[in-house]
Amino acid sequence: MKEIVIIGAGIAGLSTGCYAQMNNFQSEIYEMHSIPGGVCTSWRRGDYLFDHCLHWVIGSNKGTGLYPIFKELGIADSIDFFYTDILRVISVNGLSMTVYTDINKFEAELMNLFPEEKKGIIKYINLVKKYIEFNPPMDGDFGNFGISGFIKLLPFMPSFMKLKGITVEEFFDNLFTDNVLKEMLFRLFPVKKMPALMAIMPLSFMHRKEAGYPLGGSLNFAKAIEKQYTGLGGKIHYNSKVKKIIVRDFRAIGIELDNGNFIPADIVISACDGRTTLFEMLEGKYLDKKIKQFYQKPHLWPPLISISLGVKRDFSGLPEINDFKLSEPIIINDKKIFWSGFFHYCHDPHFAPKGKSVLKGQIETDYFYWKQLYENNRDGYYNEKERILEAYISILEDKFPGIKDDIEAADVATPVTWERYTGNWQGSYEGWLPTIETFGMRLPKKLPGLRNFYMTGQWVFPGGGVPMCMAQGKNLIGQIVRERKGKK
Ligand SMILES: Cc1cc2nc3c(=O)[nH]c(=O)nc-3n(C[C@H](O)[C@H](O)[C@H](O)COP(=O)(O)OP(=O)(O)OC[C@H]3O[C@@H](n4cnc5c(N)ncnc54)[C@H](O)[C@@H]3O)c2cc1C
Repeated sequence: MKEIVIIGAGIAGLSTGCYAQMNNFQSEIYEMHSIPGGVCTSWRRGDYLFDHCLHWVIGSNKGTGLYPIFKELGIADSIDFFYTDILRVISVNGLSMTVYTDINKFEAELMNLFPEEKKGIIKYINLVKKYIEFNPPMDGDFGNFGISGFIKLLPFMPSFMKLKGITVEEFFDNLFTDNVLKEMLFRLFPVKKMPALMAIMPLSFMHRKEAGYPLGGSLNFAKAIEKQYTGLGGKIHYNSKVKKIIVRDFRAIGIELDNGNFIPADIVISACDGRTTLFEMLEGKYLDKKIKQFYQKPHLWPPLISISLGVKRDFSGLPEINDFKLSEPIIINDKKIFWSGFFHYCHDPHFAPKGKSVLKGQIETDYFYWKQLYENNRDGYYNEKERILEAYISILEDKFPGIKDDIEAADVATPVTWERYTGNWQGSYEGWLPTIETFGMRLPKKLPGLRNFYMTGQWVFPGGGVPMCMAQGKNLIGQIVRERKGKK
């Protein structure tokens, strides 16, 4: 009998496994893919490394609240982080705005470009500066925070509640009148229905150099935790898809794999897609009101098309992320897309040989459009991917003449790709979108009427993100240890 069986070797499953081993449980992970990481992934194409995931990871720097978790999971000692000075350059009709991570420099840039918006800029930047001092427990665990921790948070409460209750769109509409400025800021924070806090806190984190880019890429990051897990005695079974969670007398007693094998366990933890877990593996039998509300009217991160290119050209002189408004839109499923751009990885030597570069472009898209094409018209699906790739290349060709001939590798991933490789519902790459209704909420880790079963990962913690998934592993195993002690 395995004491703990974990479903999924994404960041949440691996982290939970590490803390299980550290707390003297015997654990095993069952993962349907042949590699760890889930959505946190990269892959090779010839000379190039293509990456789907991490741009910035909160807590990566020494002295931050989450840093001990980075140490415990083996990240701090094996991954170097890169802290950029320029977050993004956004261009509209020949006007370019540089978003510096140093908030004073960004303020000067805004003042220089939009002097007539001085009043709004001061208000906005002052909020970002105020939140540089905001240090809630980033792992979401207020249990050990103590009274002094809460007292430090008190001065933020009035603005926090206000900014949590209005959307990014309302916030910028209230502050500014210049449409170009608003358009640029909406590009920086593209999901307009998120709470306004999400237009403030990321800039505060960036300013205090708390969020770094992990050199080596996303799969390398996942593999560092995998190494820590196996080093602690954990075991991972790859190519092992879980079909069912087996329940007897309202108690999870193990899992059944796709091949029919039964794996017994004292405790089952699901760290994979929430809908599959609740409605397929557990047949929708253990739901409460909150879970039903979330799944009946889902607000998910908008799925993406991700285009990766390997080019024999050096982009290292340019800022890492560049966005520009198009004069002619790309049309996908009758929707006009007016924004494009690219992320280059030249700051990371693992991605391409010297003198060459990897470029990535991402476009928000509709899951159902791609799903129906994939299911009903497979040739149409591949042709549409090809058409979008060509449209994207011709946008780059306008900016960088001759680049078309420099392309040595190319890949296009759709929401269906995400769904097929990771099982995530509707290709949502980060689970639930935090909205003004759901910001700060958690879904239950334990289900009503079911013992010895827990859930973790991005489908429990709206907003997702790697540090949250890592921290939840620690919190969940801590909870299980406390519950076990309570039973004795
Ligand atoms: C484009 C993109 C950009 C991102 N950028 C950032 C960023 O900059 N910073 C940041 O912190 N976070 C970022 N994230 C979010 C972060 O990567 C995720 O929130 C986190 O990795 C989710 O981890 P998870 O373990 O909860 O889920 P997943 O990664 O989905 O892992 C679930 C695992 O379960 C496996 N599985 C599914 N079904 C089964 C089954 N039936 N049987 C067995 N195994 C199964 C899957 O194969 C997968 O390995 C980004 C995500 C994406 C995709």
